Amino acid sequence: MRHTESAEDYLKTIWDLEAGHGRATTSEIARRREVAPASATGMVKRLSGLGLVDHKPYHGVTLTETGRRTALRVVRRHRLIESFLVRIMDVPRDRVHDEAERWEHVLSEDMEDRIDQLLGHPDCDPHGSPIPARDAATPRTPEELP
Ligand SMILES: [Zn+2]
Repeated sequence: MRHTESAEDYLKTIWDLEAGHGRATTSEIARRREVAPASATGMVKRLSGLGLVDHKPYHGVTLTETGRRTALRVVRRHRLIESFLVRIMDVPRDRVHDEAERWEHVLSEDMEDRIDQLLGHPDCDPHGSPIPARDAATPRTPEELP
């Protein structure tokens, strides 16, 4: 199931905060996404309703297994796109992130698989960050933000 661009971005942010701190709080999420705390709280409620996060008062926000897999799929698309842009399109490395931030929400699974195959199933993106496996089975310890 695909979610809205905004929901996917929140899941990525929560995934990154969890990796760094073990959990995310709505205030940290709001700061990272540069939105008002009320907006972050509203989105966390929505994601919770979709079964993608658990939100316990005073314990912060954690991804459910489904949420984690969904976040990793977005990260996978992002990093494959960055690799594609550098290696095939010859785009300078410092420009691929912003481009991938947009493409990651619209790339179909078919194109994702074709890019992966074209590049020979790369392990890392151009910045050296690991590309999550297709089944999203990689550990949740990224070195950096996607
Ligand atoms: Zn990036």
